Amino acid sequence: MKQTMMKLIAVATILISSASCAQSDADANPANAHAAQTVLITGANRGIGLELARQYAAAGWQVIGTARNPDSADELRSLEIQILQLDVTDQESVDRLADALGNHSIDVLINNAGILPMAVSITDIDMDAFNRTLAVNTVGPVRVTRALLPYLRQGTLKKIINVSSNLGSLANNTEGRFYGYRESKAALNMFTRSLAAELRTEQFICISLHPGWVQTDMGGANATLTVQDSVSGIREVVEGLKPADNGTFWSHDGTQLPW
Ligand code: NAP
Repeated sequence: MKQTMMKLIAVATILISSASCAQSDADANPANAHAAQTVLITGANRGIGLELARQYAAAGWQVIGTARNPDSADELRSLEIQILQLDVTDQESVDRLADALGNHSIDVLINNAGILPMAVSITDIDMDAFNRTLAVNTVGPVRVTRALLPYLRQGTLKKIINVSSNLGSLANNTEGRFYGYRESKAALNMFTRSLAAELRTEQFICISLHPGWVQTDMGGANATLTVQDSVSGIREVVEGLKPADNGTFWSHDGTQLPW
């Protein structure tokens, strides 16, 4: 009896010490903490998407970064991540991406790819550019989310992040301008709401997220935020999301925005 007790104590000691070793590994190297989680980021070859790929990879996530032209995505290729081709306006490209995922599951999808046409007044609107903006910024995330839903359903976190803009807020639009862009992001926000309502019972958390005014090709050099600061804020928001946040609109700084 005494011998059995001694054996049980020895086994328990080994289990406790290996669990605390795993914990201290994760503490010592945050890269281990998310080793089993996968994030897929669209438009990851430059700007906010590239920094998202960089920071998630450094934090130990399995990162799938997409680019329209992977061969010329040199900075993305310098990261140790999986890179897949994706043009969000091309259904065949989206289907190929979904096929390439095989039996992968996705925990977090970040619909980041976007474009910004410059139209200050209604008379400046180039209708082709307007249509293209809707195709990339609104229809693109719908296409990608629909194709990747089976992989997200297999994931554990079930988070869908639509990178929107405060310019897509109806409530905050007192100055107009940005024709095409505002409409595309307002419609994207409506997609977020519909998706959130439909997927609520499956424990998905779907949000729209404004990254701030960021120093990228799109945001320009006068933007107030570095891409590093914007992305660390975005990651904090994504990490902290709870089921009750499904269907909400966030800024990178952790505040919520009105629709
Ligand atoms: P960016 O530097 O211009 O990068 C845009 C990314 O989207 C690039 O990787 C680009 O790929 C990709 N992309 C464009 N069209 C695409 C398509 N048809 N299919 C797939 N990918 C495509 O822009 P950013 O500043 O990083 O913006 C990222 C997101 O944040 C966008 O949704 C934007 O609307 C939003 N946002 C940005 C700001 C800001 O101040 N920067 C503010 C509010 C919201 P290519 O290199 O192949 O063109």
